[in-house]
Amino acid sequence: MKFHEMEIKQVEKALETDFSSGLSTEEVKIRISKNGLNELDEGEKQSALLLFFSQFKDFMVLVLLAATLISGLLGEYIDAIAIIAIVLINGCLGFFQERRAEKSLQALKELSAPHVMIVRDGEWMKIPSREIVIGDVLKFTSGDRIGADVRVIDSRSLEVEESALTGESVPVAKHTECLQHPNPGIGDMENIAFMGTMVTRGSGVGVVIATGMKTAMGQIADLLQKAEVQDTPLQRRLEQLGKILITVALFLTILVVVVGVIQGHEIYEMFLAGVSLAVAAIPEGLPAIVTVALSLGVQKMIKKNAIVRKLPAVETLGCASVICSDKTGTMTQNKMTVTHLWSGSHTWIVDGVGYEPNGKFYEDNKLVQPKDEKAMQQMLIFGMLCNHSELHMKKEEIVLDGDPTEGALLVSAMKAGYKRSNLLKEFTIMKEFPFDSTRKMMSMHVKDKQGRHFIVTKGAPDVILGKSESILWDEKILHLGHEIQGKVQNEINMLAAKALRTIAIAYKPVKGTTVILSEQEAEKNLIFIGIQGIIDPPRPEVKEAVKECKQAGIKTVMITGDHVITAKAIAAQLGILTNRSRVVDGNTLSKMSVEELEDVVEDVSVFARVSPEHKLKIVKALQNNGHVVAMTGDGVNDAPAIKAADIGVAMGITGTDVAKEASALILLDDNFATIKGAIKEGRNIYENIRKFVRYLLASNVGEILVMLFAMILGLPLPLIPIQILWVNLVTDGLPAMALGLDRPEENVMKRPPRSPNEGIFSRGLGWKVVSRGFLIGLVTLLAFIIVYHNDKTQLQYAQTVAFATLVMAQLIHVFDCRSEKSVLSRNPFGNSYLVWSVISSIALMLVAIYYPPLWPIFHTLPISARDWLLIVGMASIPTFLLAGSFLLRKTK
Ligand code: ATP
Repeated sequence: MKFHEMEIKQVEKALETDFSSGLSTEEVKIRISKNGLNELDEGEKQSALLLFFSQFKDFMVLVLLAATLISGLLGEYIDAIAIIAIVLINGCLGFFQERRAEKSLQALKELSAPHVMIVRDGEWMKIPSREIVIGDVLKFTSGDRIGADVRVIDSRSLEVEESALTGESVPVAKHTECLQHPNPGIGDMENIAFMGTMVTRGSGVGVVIATGMKTAMGQIADLLQKAEVQDTPLQRRLEQLGKILITVALFLTILVVVVGVIQGHEIYEMFLAGVSLAVAAIPEGLPAIVTVALSLGVQKMIKKNAIVRKLPAVETLGCASVICSDKTGTMTQNKMTVTHLWSGSHTWIVDGVGYEPNGKFYEDNKLVQPKDEKAMQQMLIFGMLCNHSELHMKKEEIVLDGDPTEGALLVSAMKAGYKRSNLLKEFTIMKEFPFDSTRKMMSMHVKDKQGRHFIVTKGAPDVILGKSESILWDEKILHLGHEIQGKVQNEINMLAAKALRTIAIAYKPVKGTTVILSEQEAEKNLIFIGIQGIIDPPRPEVKEAVKECKQAGIKTVMITGDHVITAKAIAAQLGILTNRSRVVDGNTLSKMSVEELEDVVEDVSVFARVSPEHKLKIVKALQNNGHVVAMTGDGVNDAPAIKAADIGVAMGITGTDVAKEASALILLDDNFATIKGAIKEGRNIYENIRKFVRYLLASNVGEILVMLFAMILGLPLPLIPIQILWVNLVTDGLPAMALGLDRPEENVMKRPPRSPNEGIFSRGLGWKVVSRGFLIGLVTLLAFIIVYHNDKTQLQYAQTVAFATLVMAQLIHVFDCRSEKSVLSRNPFGNSYLVWSVISSIALMLVAIYYPPLWPIFHTLPISARDWLLIVGMASIPTFLLAGSFLLRKTK
């Protein structure tokens, strides 16, 4: 017999598991060793060896190797071996950089891998999906992806969307009954939920019957598209830029060679110099360093609780001009406590802290006993019954499993002495209509011990009011006329104005014993009982974060399903709502077209009582107005807006798998302030990329110009090929990497967001590259000319001086690159990576100059102390000049 044909009890026996306590840890180990991990084969990965060889497939490196071969054939063995050694060192550096980037991306993937709720050794816990074994008992709810193939053993209006397997996007209801058909198609397996499919409604429990490649998904895994690594816009732009730079560099190199030959240099000498110059001047390593900088930035973000799922988001983050954020849990603490109860002419206050079930009830400052207050009792009982959450003791702490709003309702009822387990003995749940953010309510069809049937409902008071025809007012059921409606509305507003989240409780008796199956039928003609008012204090750090965003030219917009007045009260406390900004509610929003919204959206800072569907409209309107939008979300219905936003943000704790999969950024702590932190980091990463692009390109310009000028002036080669290669492929690399790790400048969050269309050379970077490069080339040439003119027989010595000046000028210039303004505007030695990398690059240069066995290879000679003065003096000129002009501008 197959699992879908078995009764639940038979399944439990066949799988040798226990549905209430799950498998034991030892048993799990045995099953993992037997069946392996719950993973789909990912196909071939690039081997380390291949990655290593791919470092040498670059066109210019091949040309260099060919040139080396020629010099080898011409008997220039030392040159040939040295060049090969340098190419190898450079290849190793590239290899390690790429490996590092790859590893951190892999780690990232694992961090954002899906988790499942599972019971083991009698305890519910969250584990990564890959650790699921056959016989495990899983719990899933709306928005989850099913982690393995499971036989459903409990279904509460469970519906699953199976399009990944069947192509059919209409969700399928899942039940627990056994099927008679021996071989139903996947679409007809109504008691099996498959790996990779998505729960769209309700919740359920299932026992795992297949994992990994044995699942239905595993069988078609080969057909699944492999996720491609996406290049970021910047990487693509740099690649294009690279092509232009190659052309320019080749042109200049040819110019150097031609002028050199005309001036009487040997063709072979100029050929090797040209090739070396071309290899050095072409920034083929840039995209790789950019990847490393991005992935290092991503690691930094993880430490600050933000996981970047899509690399391009790192760049887009720096452009964000609006953050649309949920309120509950993101701006507030999600630690909810009922503090007010209202029904008829009574308002009660409840004391107590958090989920601690101790507290008393007061009316007009006088203690009251819940047993004397009928309406209060009913409100508490129904709030506890129509509930899906549970409180557990874990290490002497009360923890909530479920929705905090519902947790608060459990606790308020516990304070009056009720227990859900006792209530479940008195009431049988016949049918559940789960909460969703569009209906803003949840209902249950229940039967009491006397066999009477009821609908019990809780939800947003204004919505419930609209669905009620009468009200329980001081123990009498009254018709909900205009006047009473007005009174209730008034009460809702008063509670909301105290920044309370409000939940109304209602019920209705059901005639007969037929279970109501549709929510439209269940949720009408209700009897309104009263309202529970819940506090959910703002997170303390959010106010400051909103302020910082404002300074950074980023607008914060609150989007919430909560009541308009509650939202307003909290938005005002957080500084989101100002005198000039507006609040728009869901109703108004529904009536607006995207174009109409575009006209007003700039002034709106709170959208309240909205449904997740509205979020897409808001994103579109903002984007049409030219904004780069970050949008948060957690539920299934949030996914389209998260996807459409420039930066989709999902909640790590409360977010569903679907929201996470649609997102570019996951907040591990669900905290608004984390988004701000990620934006700051995003801006910094982009600035750091600009810093090393500036450094590397200016260095290259310097190298080309020194050679070009020397050729034009009819001088000998100021640098020999091997020196050029050493500078470019060895001493330049580390400082460039260190710039990628630089800390942000102080004003990084005090200036408006960057335009997404901004080119890498904008804001004066192109000019900086050319002018600094020119100066570096010039001082190197000057140092060469001075020493060479002094003693024309000592060409090798003069070349050594030029080599040292070039390296020193670049290594001094690197400190300039830390700031957009000037070397003087921040402590130049504030980046210790940079300081150490510069020290090690100097050491590498000194080895080439002072280690005698290297002299014949690098054509170097030890430099005298007097000439070091010249070198350092010359090398400092560009930085001094620029610092001076900065001071001059400042004093003006
Ligand atoms: P945000 O989008 O900021 O997270 P929210 O959590 O307040 O807002 P929803 O979860 O859509 O938005 O809730 C909207 C309203 O529905 C709440 O104001 C509350 O009145 C009601 N509500 C929330 N949770 C439940 C629930 N579990 N059962 C019944 N009603 C609920």
